[in-house]
Amino acid sequence: MTGEDAGPDPPPVLDWRDAKHWSWTAKQCRYCPGLTNLRDSHGSHSHKCCAEDALAQQAADATAAYRQNGQTT
Ligand SMILES: [Zn+2]
Repeated sequence: MTGEDAGPDPPPVLDWRDAKHWSWTAKQCRYCPGLTNLRDSHGSHSHKCCAEDALAQQAADATAAYRQNGQTT
């Protein structure tokens, strides 16, 4: 009995169950050559995993930029 439940922290992945992330028209993902019916938070066609990778990359880039400016933490 671990009693696991949804903790106070949001999950580390995007929640794309909302209908606004679905399009009936499959178009090319903005990040890769594949087709997708999914749309990201900006309304651009994107696979969920591609958008998550992009977000992770943006976070990494932001961290690197702060380090370059000597503003760690
Ligand atoms: Zn993709």
